Amino acid sequence: MRLLDNLYCYIWTGRGNNCHSYLVAHVLDGERPHVLIDSGHLVNELRESCFEHLLGIMKKDGIEAQDIGLIINTHSHPDHCEANQALVEITRAKGGRAKRALIALHQDEAEYQRAVGNWLAKMMGREAKFEPDFYLQEGKLSLGQVNLEILHTPGHSPGSISLYCPDNQVLITGDVIFFGAVGRTDFPGGDGRLLKESIERLSQLDVEHLLPGHSTELGHIIRGADRVKQNFAFIKTNYFPFL
Ligand SMILES: [Zn+2]
Repeated sequence: MRLLDNLYCYIWTGRGNNCHSYLVAHVLDGERPHVLIDSGHLVNELRESCFEHLLGIMKKDGIEAQDIGLIINTHSHPDHCEANQALVEITRAKGGRAKRALIALHQDEAEYQRAVGNWLAKMMGREAKFEPDFYLQEGKLSLGQVNLEILHTPGHSPGSISLYCPDNQVLITGDVIFFGAVGRTDFPGGDGRLLKESIERLSQLDVEHLLPGHSTELGHIIRGADRVKQNFAFIKTNYFPFL
């Protein structure tokens, strides 16, 4: 689904778990111009083919997976990055001067993934091994004409990031905050105090579209500055005392 000019939202609507993916189209120079934020599961716990589904709905928008040049992961949990390697292989098969899509992650998350995350994934019967090609740091990231700010927002995991586009007031939050809920902090690497600080920080931004990593029973994308503000207020009242 196209949300804004070059921003597409792929909302997971299956019965089992998977993340939502977001795509910034036609922004990189060269033969692979698209940027995907979170690739999601390959296959989830209910054996739903999440990645195949993503490829299919992107295709309906005219987005070919082989034209993705960069995968940004909000964090390293398998439901956000298990399909990274499969996607990289699709881009590699296209060939060309740039050999394949690159993968980017916050450095704290990469270290966490090596120390704990891979073990955690294995415990859950998952394997989401990949090596980031470069690290994302707090600060500006220009994707062609699109200016993003990378915000280090730990709490759900040590190197979780949110992506903010000030020009159209879009905020992609990964598993930091959802519609009426927050990311879990009971996994290894989770920290309630840090999550609170991260949410507090995000609540200071001017946001017209809040794009979370998962749906809740209340919904997925929160549209409209007033509704976004209401959501932050709800979280502060109902979740902060328990974090
Ligand atoms: Zn997560």
